[in-house]
Amino acid sequence: MERSIFEPEHEELRASFRAWLDKEVVPHAVEWERAGIVPHALFTEAGRHGFLGMAIPEEHGGGGTVDFRYNQVIAEEIQAAGVFGAGVGITLHNDICLPYFLTYCNEEQARRWLPGIASGELVTAIAMTEPGIGSDLAGMSTSAVRDGDSYVVNGSKTFITNGINADLVITAVKTDPSQKHKGMSLLVLERGMEGFERGRNLEKLGLHSQDTAELFFNDVHVPAENLLGTEGEGFIQLVHNLPQERLSIAVGGVAAARAALGWTLDYVKERTAFGQPVGSFQNSRFVLAEIATEVEVGQAFADQCVTALNKEELSAEEAAMCKWWMTEMQKRAVDRCLQLHGGYGYMMEYPIARAYADARITTIYGGTTEIMKEIIGRSLGL
Ligand SMILES: Cc1cc2nc3c(=O)[nH]c(=O)nc-3n(C[C@H](O)[C@H](O)[C@H](O)COP(=O)(O)OP(=O)(O)OC[C@H]3O[C@@H](n4cnc5c(N)ncnc54)[C@H](O)[C@@H]3O)c2cc1C
Repeated sequence: MERSIFEPEHEELRASFRAWLDKEVVPHAVEWERAGIVPHALFTEAGRHGFLGMAIPEEHGGGGTVDFRYNQVIAEEIQAAGVFGAGVGITLHNDICLPYFLTYCNEEQARRWLPGIASGELVTAIAMTEPGIGSDLAGMSTSAVRDGDSYVVNGSKTFITNGINADLVITAVKTDPSQKHKGMSLLVLERGMEGFERGRNLEKLGLHSQDTAELFFNDVHVPAENLLGTEGEGFIQLVHNLPQERLSIAVGGVAAARAALGWTLDYVKERTAFGQPVGSFQNSRFVLAEIATEVEVGQAFADQCVTALNKEELSAEEAAMCKWWMTEMQKRAVDRCLQLHGGYGYMMEYPIARAYADARITTIYGGTTEIMKEIIGRSLGL
Protein backbone atom coordinates (compact mmCIF):
# COMPACT_ATOMS: atom_id res chain seq x y z
CA MET A 1 0.00 0.00 0.00
CA GLU A 2 1.12 3.53 -0.60
CA ARG A 3 2.32 5.05 2.65
CA SER A 4 1.21 8.59 3.36
CA ILE A 5 3.62 9.31 6.19
CA PHE A 6 6.58 10.65 4.20
CA GLU A 7 7.21 14.00 2.51
CA PRO A 8 9.58 14.51 -0.44
CA GLU A 9 12.44 15.50 1.92
CA HIS A 10 12.25 12.09 3.64
CA GLU A 11 12.48 10.35 0.28
CA GLU A 12 15.50 12.51 -0.58
CA LEU A 13 17.20 11.35 2.59
CA ARG A 14 16.22 7.76 1.75
CA ALA A 15 17.87 7.99 -1.68
CA SER A 16 21.06 9.60 -0.43
CA PHE A 17 21.38 7.30 2.60
CA ARG A 18 20.77 4.20 0.47
CA ALA A 19 23.40 5.34 -2.05
CA TRP A 20 25.82 5.91 0.84
CA LEU A 21 25.10 2.46 2.30
CA ASP A 22 25.65 0.82 -1.09
CA LYS A 23 28.98 2.60 -1.48
CA GLU A 24 30.39 2.75 2.06
CA VAL A 25 28.81 -0.11 3.99
CA VAL A 26 27.55 -2.98 1.80
CA PRO A 27 30.97 -3.69 0.21
CA HIS A 28 32.57 -4.01 3.69
CA ALA A 29 29.74 -5.81 5.47
CA VAL A 30 31.30 -9.28 5.37
CA GLU A 31 34.72 -8.00 6.45
CA TRP A 32 33.16 -6.15 9.41
CA GLU A 33 31.06 -9.17 10.35
CA ARG A 34 34.33 -11.12 10.64
CA ALA A 35 36.04 -8.31 12.56
CA GLY A 36 33.14 -8.09 15.04
CA ILE A 37 33.03 -4.30 14.77
CA VAL A 38 32.65 -1.43 12.31
CA PRO A 39 35.44 1.17 12.10
CA HIS A 40 34.96 4.20 14.35
CA ALA A 41 35.46 6.24 11.17
CA LEU A 42 32.14 4.93 9.83
CA PHE A 43 30.45 7.31 12.26
CA THR A 44 32.44 10.34 11.10
CA GLU A 45 31.67 9.37 7.50
CA ALA A 46 27.97 9.15 8.36
CA GLY A 47 28.18 12.46 10.21
CA ARG A 48 29.90 14.15 7.29
CA HIS A 49 26.96 13.25 5.07
CA GLY A 50 24.36 14.49 7.57
CA PHE A 51 23.12 11.05 8.67
CA LEU A 52 23.78 11.66 12.37
CA GLY A 53 22.12 14.02 14.80
CA MET A 54 19.36 15.20 12.49
CA ALA A 55 17.52 16.42 15.61
CA ILE A 56 20.48 18.36 17.03
CA PRO A 57 20.02 22.15 16.81
CA GLU A 58 21.95 23.73 13.95
CA GLU A 59 23.99 25.90 16.29
CA HIS A 60 25.45 22.67 17.71
CA GLY A 61 26.21 21.22 14.27
CA GLY A 62 23.10 19.11 13.72
CA GLY A 63 20.26 19.03 11.21
CA GLY A 64 17.95 21.14 13.36
CA THR A 65 14.81 19.08 12.69
CA VAL A 66 13.07 16.99 15.31
CA ASP A 67 11.21 14.49 13.15
CA PHE A 68 11.47 10.76 13.77
CA ARG A 69 10.55 10.01 10.14
CA TYR A 70 14.20 10.73 9.24
CA ASN A 71 15.30 8.13 11.78
CA GLN A 72 12.68 5.74 10.41
CA VAL A 73 14.01 6.12 6.85
CA ILE A 74 17.52 5.32 8.06
CA ALA A 75 16.36 2.24 9.99
CA GLU A 76 14.37 1.02 6.97
CA GLU A 77 17.22 1.40 4.51
CA ILE A 78 19.68 -0.40 6.79
CA GLN A 79 17.33 -3.38 6.75
CA ALA A 80 16.62 -3.16 3.02
CA ALA A 81 20.38 -3.23 2.36
CA GLY A 82 20.78 -6.30 4.59
CA VAL A 83 23.36 -4.61 6.85
CA PHE A 84 21.58 -4.56 10.20
CA GLY A 85 24.75 -5.54 12.09
CA ALA A 86 26.79 -2.71 10.59
CA GLY A 87 24.00 -0.15 10.84
CA VAL A 88 22.51 -0.76 14.26
CA GLY A 89 25.21 1.32 15.95
CA ILE A 90 24.05 4.33 13.92
CA THR A 91 20.40 3.85 14.89
CA LEU A 92 21.40 3.42 18.53
CA HIS A 93 23.39 6.66 18.36
CA ASN A 94 20.59 8.65 16.67
CA ASP A 95 17.40 7.13 18.02
CA ILE A 96 18.27 5.89 21.48
CA CYS A 97 21.23 7.81 22.92
CA LEU A 98 20.77 11.24 21.36
CA PRO A 99 17.37 11.97 22.99
CA TYR A 100 19.02 11.79 26.42
CA PHE A 101 21.54 14.44 25.40
CA LEU A 102 18.91 16.60 23.71
CA THR A 103 16.50 16.48 26.63
CA TYR A 104 18.83 16.59 29.60
CA CYS A 105 22.04 18.42 28.64
CA ASN A 106 22.49 21.83 30.21
CA GLU A 107 23.99 24.59 28.03
CA GLU A 108 27.57 23.76 28.92
CA GLN A 109 27.08 20.03 28.26
CA ALA A 110 25.30 20.77 24.97
CA ARG A 111 28.27 22.85 23.80
CA ARG A 112 30.69 20.15 24.95
CA TRP A 113 29.00 17.09 23.46
CA LEU A 114 26.41 17.82 20.76
CA PRO A 115 28.80 18.92 17.97
CA GLY A 116 30.84 15.72 18.34
CA ILE A 117 27.69 13.59 18.41
CA ALA A 118 26.51 15.24 15.17
CA SER A 119 29.88 14.84 13.46
CA GLY A 120 30.37 11.23 14.63
CA GLU A 121 33.59 12.08 16.47
CA LEU A 122 31.80 11.22 19.71
CA VAL A 123 30.10 7.83 19.36
CA THR A 124 27.50 7.17 22.03
CA ALA A 125 26.24 4.18 23.99
CA ILE A 126 23.81 3.62 26.83
CA ALA A 127 24.68 1.26 29.65
CA MET A 128 21.80 0.02 31.77
CA THR A 129 22.15 -3.77 31.84
CA GLU A 130 24.45 -5.44 34.38
CA PRO A 131 25.59 -9.04 34.60
CA GLY A 132 23.01 -9.69 37.33
CA ILE A 133 20.05 -7.65 36.03
CA GLY A 134 18.40 -6.68 32.78
CA SER A 135 14.62 -6.51 32.87
CA ASP A 136 14.49 -5.47 36.53
CA LEU A 137 16.45 -2.28 35.97
CA ALA A 138 15.83 -0.70 39.35
CA GLY A 139 17.69 -3.63 40.91
CA MET A 140 20.97 -2.48 39.36
CA SER A 141 23.96 -1.98 41.62
CA THR A 142 26.65 0.09 39.84
CA SER A 143 27.27 2.80 42.43
CA ALA A 144 28.20 6.47 42.17
CA VAL A 145 29.23 7.99 45.48
CA ARG A 146 29.59 11.76 45.67
CA ASP A 147 33.12 12.87 46.61
CA GLY A 148 33.54 16.65 46.43
CA ASP A 149 32.85 17.71 42.87
CA SER A 150 33.07 14.17 41.47
CA TYR A 151 31.21 10.90 41.67
CA VAL A 152 33.24 7.76 42.29
CA VAL A 153 31.77 5.01 40.12
CA ASN A 154 32.18 1.29 40.79
CA GLY A 155 30.51 -1.67 39.13
CA SER A 156 30.08 -3.21 35.70
CA LYS A 157 27.71 -3.32 32.74
CA THR A 158 27.25 -5.90 30.04
CA PHE A 159 25.73 -6.34 26.56
CA ILE A 160 26.45 -2.69 25.72
CA THR A 161 25.87 -1.83 22.05
CA ASN A 162 28.70 0.33 20.64
CA GLY A 163 30.54 -0.72 23.79
CA ILE A 164 33.98 -0.68 22.15
CA ASN A 165 33.49 2.24 19.76
CA ALA A 166 31.70 4.51 22.23
CA ASP A 167 33.32 7.74 23.42
CA LEU A 168 30.40 8.81 25.60
CA VAL A 169 28.53 6.22 27.63
CA ILE A 170 25.28 7.23 29.33
CA THR A 171 25.60 5.08 32.41
CA ALA A 172 22.77 4.25 34.78
CA VAL A 173 24.14 4.36 38.32
CA LYS A 174 22.82 4.20 41.86
CA THR A 175 23.53 7.49 43.61
CA ASP A 176 21.42 6.28 46.55
CA PRO A 177 21.76 2.50 46.98
CA SER A 178 19.16 2.50 49.77
CA GLN A 179 16.48 3.33 47.17
CA LYS A 180 15.32 1.35 44.15
CA HIS A 181 13.87 3.58 41.41
CA LYS A 182 14.48 6.85 43.24
CA GLY A 183 18.17 6.08 43.79
CA MET A 184 19.05 6.02 40.09
CA SER A 185 20.89 8.72 38.10
CA LEU A 186 22.51 9.02 34.67
CA LEU A 187 26.20 9.88 34.40
CA VAL A 188 28.12 10.32 31.16
CA LEU A 189 31.38 8.38 31.26
CA GLU A 190 33.98 9.41 28.71
CA ARG A 191 36.63 7.44 26.88
CA GLY A 192 39.95 7.60 28.70
CA MET A 193 38.65 8.21 32.23
CA GLU A 194 40.94 6.40 34.64
CA GLY A 195 39.41 3.15 35.90
CA PHE A 196 36.91 2.91 33.01
CA GLU A 197 37.84 -0.33 31.22
CA ARG A 198 36.28 -2.13 28.28
CA GLY A 199 35.88 -5.86 28.64
CA ARG A 200 35.36 -8.38 25.88
CA ASN A 201 33.70 -7.61 22.59
CA LEU A 202 31.12 -10.34 23.14
CA GLU A 203 30.67 -13.19 20.66
CA LYS A 204 27.05 -13.24 19.59
CA LEU A 205 24.60 -15.37 17.63
CA GLY A 206 24.01 -12.52 15.18
CA LEU A 207 24.72 -8.80 14.67
CA HIS A 208 28.35 -9.80 14.27
CA SER A 209 29.62 -6.43 13.07
CA GLN A 210 28.06 -4.72 16.06
CA ASP A 211 30.44 -4.33 19.01
CA THR A 212 28.54 -5.43 22.09
CA ALA A 213 30.76 -5.24 25.13
CA GLU A 214 31.27 -5.50 28.84
CA LEU A 215 32.28 -2.33 30.68
CA PHE A 216 34.04 -2.16 34.04
CA PHE A 217 34.24 0.78 36.42
CA ASN A 218 36.90 0.74 39.14
CA ASP A 219 36.91 3.91 41.23
CA VAL A 220 36.24 6.07 38.17
CA HIS A 221 36.20 9.73 39.21
CA VAL A 222 33.48 11.28 37.07
CA PRO A 223 33.13 15.07 37.34
CA ALA A 224 29.74 16.11 38.70
CA GLU A 225 29.27 18.21 35.58
CA ASN A 226 28.82 14.91 33.70
CA LEU A 227 25.53 14.25 35.52
CA LEU A 228 22.76 14.19 32.94
CA GLY A 229 19.63 15.80 34.35
CA THR A 230 18.86 15.66 38.05
CA GLU A 231 20.33 13.29 40.62
CA GLY A 232 17.82 10.62 41.61
CA GLU A 233 15.70 11.00 38.48
CA GLY A 234 17.50 8.44 36.33
CA PHE A 235 14.64 5.97 36.31
CA ILE A 236 12.13 8.64 35.24
CA GLN A 237 14.54 9.72 32.48
CA LEU A 238 14.80 6.13 31.22
CA VAL A 239 11.04 5.64 31.29
CA HIS A 240 10.58 8.90 29.41
CA ASN A 241 12.92 7.84 26.58
CA LEU A 242 12.06 4.15 26.30
CA PRO A 243 9.04 4.62 23.94
CA GLN A 244 11.33 6.09 21.25
CA GLU A 245 13.90 3.31 21.81
CA ARG A 246 11.17 0.69 21.41
CA LEU A 247 9.71 2.37 18.35
CA SER A 248 13.16 2.44 16.75
CA ILE A 249 13.45 -1.33 17.19
CA ALA A 250 9.88 -1.83 15.94
CA VAL A 251 10.29 0.17 12.71
CA GLY A 252 13.46 -1.80 12.03
CA GLY A 253 11.51 -5.00 12.67
CA VAL A 254 8.82 -4.40 10.10
CA ALA A 255 11.45 -3.21 7.60
CA ALA A 256 13.44 -6.41 8.18
CA ALA A 257 10.34 -8.51 7.47
CA ARG A 258 9.71 -6.51 4.29
CA ALA A 259 13.30 -7.02 3.16
CA ALA A 260 13.09 -10.77 3.82
CA LEU A 261 9.88 -10.94 1.81
CA GLY A 262 11.54 -9.20 -1.15
CA TRP A 263 14.61 -11.47 -1.17
CA THR A 264 12.39 -14.54 -0.89
CA LEU A 265 10.04 -13.50 -3.68
CA ASP A 266 13.06 -13.13 -5.97
CA TYR A 267 14.43 -16.48 -4.87
CA VAL A 268 11.27 -18.59 -5.22
CA LYS A 269 10.62 -17.22 -8.71
CA GLU A 270 14.06 -18.39 -9.86
CA ARG A 271 14.51 -21.64 -7.98
CA THR A 272 12.78 -24.68 -9.43
CA ALA A 273 11.82 -28.04 -7.96
CA PHE A 274 9.81 -30.82 -9.59
CA GLY A 275 10.00 -28.86 -12.84
CA GLN A 276 8.34 -25.70 -11.55
CA PRO A 277 9.31 -22.55 -9.66
CA VAL A 278 9.27 -23.08 -5.89
CA GLY A 279 7.05 -20.01 -5.66
CA SER A 280 4.30 -21.73 -7.64
CA PHE A 281 3.59 -24.28 -4.91
CA GLN A 282 0.46 -23.40 -2.99
CA ASN A 283 2.36 -23.55 0.31
CA SER A 284 4.89 -20.96 -0.89
CA ARG A 285 2.12 -18.68 -2.12
CA PHE A 286 0.23 -18.96 1.16
CA VAL A 287 3.31 -18.39 3.32
CA LEU A 288 4.34 -15.33 1.32
CA ALA A 289 0.76 -14.05 1.18
CA GLU A 290 0.60 -14.24 4.97
CA ILE A 291 3.93 -12.44 5.39
CA ALA A 292 2.94 -9.75 2.86
CA THR A 293 -0.30 -9.21 4.81
CA GLU A 294 1.47 -9.00 8.16
CA VAL A 295 4.00 -6.52 6.77
CA GLU A 296 1.24 -4.23 5.45
CA VAL A 297 -0.84 -4.44 8.62
CA GLY A 298 2.25 -3.93 10.79
CA GLN A 299 3.49 -1.02 8.71
CA ALA A 300 0.21 0.86 9.14
CA PHE A 301 0.47 0.63 12.93
CA ALA A 302 4.19 1.42 12.98
CA ASP A 303 3.61 4.53 10.85
CA GLN A 304 0.77 5.58 13.17
CA CYS A 305 3.11 5.23 16.14
CA VAL A 306 5.77 7.35 14.41
CA THR A 307 3.16 10.04 13.77
CA ALA A 308 2.11 9.87 17.43
CA LEU A 309 5.74 10.11 18.60
CA ASN A 310 6.28 13.19 16.45
CA LYS A 311 3.25 14.77 18.15
CA GLU A 312 4.65 13.71 21.55
CA GLU A 313 1.56 11.54 21.99
CA LEU A 314 3.02 8.02 21.83
CA SER A 315 2.25 6.28 25.12
CA ALA A 316 4.48 3.69 26.80
CA GLU A 317 1.80 1.06 26.16
CA GLU A 318 1.50 1.84 22.44
CA ALA A 319 5.28 1.73 22.05
CA ALA A 320 5.30 -1.62 23.88
CA MET A 321 2.57 -2.97 21.56
CA CYS A 322 4.49 -1.84 18.52
CA LYS A 323 7.78 -3.28 19.77
CA TRP A 324 6.61 -6.75 20.70
CA TRP A 325 4.33 -7.22 17.74
CA MET A 326 6.73 -6.01 15.02
CA THR A 327 9.71 -7.94 16.38
CA GLU A 328 7.79 -11.18 16.89
CA MET A 329 6.46 -10.73 13.35
CA GLN A 330 10.00 -10.07 12.10
CA LYS A 331 11.26 -13.24 13.75
CA ARG A 332 8.39 -15.32 12.33
CA ALA A 333 8.68 -13.82 8.83
CA VAL A 334 12.43 -14.21 8.56
CA ASP A 335 12.23 -17.82 9.77
CA ARG A 336 9.56 -18.71 7.23
CA CYS A 337 11.43 -16.94 4.43
CA LEU A 338 14.58 -18.87 5.29
CA GLN A 339 12.59 -22.12 5.03
CA LEU A 340 11.54 -21.21 1.48
CA HIS A 341 15.21 -20.83 0.53
CA GLY A 342 15.85 -24.48 1.43
CA GLY A 343 19.50 -25.30 2.20
CA TYR A 344 20.72 -22.06 0.60
CA GLY A 345 18.88 -20.17 3.31
CA TYR A 346 21.32 -21.62 5.82
CA MET A 347 24.34 -20.28 3.90
CA MET A 348 25.75 -16.99 5.12
CA GLU A 349 26.25 -15.76 1.56
CA TYR A 350 22.48 -15.37 1.33
CA PRO A 351 21.16 -12.27 3.12
CA ILE A 352 18.29 -14.26 4.62
CA ALA A 353 20.74 -16.30 6.72
CA ARG A 354 22.25 -13.21 8.29
CA ALA A 355 18.80 -11.65 8.73
CA TYR A 356 17.67 -14.78 10.57
CA ALA A 357 20.55 -14.63 13.06
CA ASP A 358 20.25 -10.86 13.43
CA ALA A 359 16.50 -10.97 14.06
CA ARG A 360 16.74 -13.17 17.14
CA ILE A 361 17.78 -10.38 19.48
CA THR A 362 15.01 -7.95 18.62
CA THR A 363 12.40 -9.58 20.88
CA ILE A 364 14.90 -9.39 23.76
CA TYR A 365 16.78 -6.08 23.80
CA GLY A 366 15.05 -2.79 24.47
CA GLY A 367 12.76 -4.77 26.80
CA THR A 368 11.69 -8.36 26.17
CA THR A 369 8.37 -9.35 24.62
CA GLU A 370 7.28 -10.54 28.05
CA ILE A 371 8.07 -7.18 29.67
CA MET A 372 6.20 -5.40 26.82
CA LYS A 373 3.14 -7.52 27.57
CA GLU A 374 3.49 -6.74 31.29
CA ILE A 375 3.41 -3.01 30.49
CA ILE A 376 0.33 -3.40 28.27
CA GLY A 377 -1.36 -5.77 30.73
CA ARG A 378 -0.91 -3.31 33.61
CA SER A 379 -2.50 -0.55 31.52
CA LEU A 380 -5.55 -2.81 31.15
CA GLY A 381 -5.95 -2.69 34.91
CA LEU A 382 -4.63 -6.23 35.39
C1 LIG B 1 22.97 -7.81 21.37
C2 LIG B 1 22.49 -7.11 22.60
C3 LIG B 1 22.56 -5.73 22.66
C4 LIG B 1 22.16 -5.08 23.83
N1 LIG B 1 22.35 -3.74 23.95
C5 LIG B 1 22.16 -3.13 25.16
C6 LIG B 1 22.57 -1.79 25.38
O1 LIG B 1 23.06 -1.12 24.48
N2 LIG B 1 22.40 -1.27 26.61
C7 LIG B 1 21.87 -1.97 27.65
O2 LIG B 1 21.76 -1.43 28.74
N3 LIG B 1 21.46 -3.25 27.47
C8 LIG B 1 21.62 -3.86 26.26
N4 LIG B 1 21.25 -5.15 26.07
C9 LIG B 1 20.64 -5.88 27.18
C10 LIG B 1 19.17 -6.18 26.96
O3 LIG B 1 18.40 -5.01 26.98
C11 LIG B 1 18.75 -7.21 28.01
O4 LIG B 1 19.38 -8.43 27.67
C12 LIG B 1 17.26 -7.37 28.09
O5 LIG B 1 16.65 -6.23 28.63
C13 LIG B 1 16.85 -8.59 28.96
O6 LIG B 1 17.51 -8.57 30.17
P1 LIG B 1 18.28 -9.91 30.68
O7 LIG B 1 19.15 -10.35 29.57
O8 LIG B 1 18.89 -9.62 31.98
O9 LIG B 1 17.14 -10.98 30.84
P2 LIG B 1 16.31 -11.27 32.18
O10 LIG B 1 15.76 -10.01 32.73
O11 LIG B 1 17.14 -12.11 33.08
O12 LIG B 1 15.12 -12.15 31.59
C14 LIG B 1 15.22 -13.55 31.32
C15 LIG B 1 13.84 -14.04 30.88
O13 LIG B 1 12.89 -13.80 31.94
C16 LIG B 1 11.80 -13.04 31.43
N5 LIG B 1 11.29 -12.15 32.46
C17 LIG B 1 11.98 -11.28 33.24
N6 LIG B 1 11.16 -10.59 34.03
C18 LIG B 1 9.91 -11.04 33.75
C19 LIG B 1 8.60 -10.71 34.23
N7 LIG B 1 8.40 -9.76 35.15
N8 LIG B 1 7.54 -11.37 33.71
C20 LIG B 1 7.72 -12.31 32.75
N9 LIG B 1 8.91 -12.67 32.26
C21 LIG B 1 10.00 -12.02 32.74
C22 LIG B 1 12.36 -12.25 30.26
O14 LIG B 1 11.33 -11.83 29.39
C23 LIG B 1 13.31 -13.27 29.65
O15 LIG B 1 12.58 -14.14 28.82
C24 LIG B 1 21.61 -5.82 24.91
C25 LIG B 1 21.50 -7.22 24.81
C26 LIG B 1 21.97 -7.85 23.69
C27 LIG B 1 21.93 -9.36 23.66
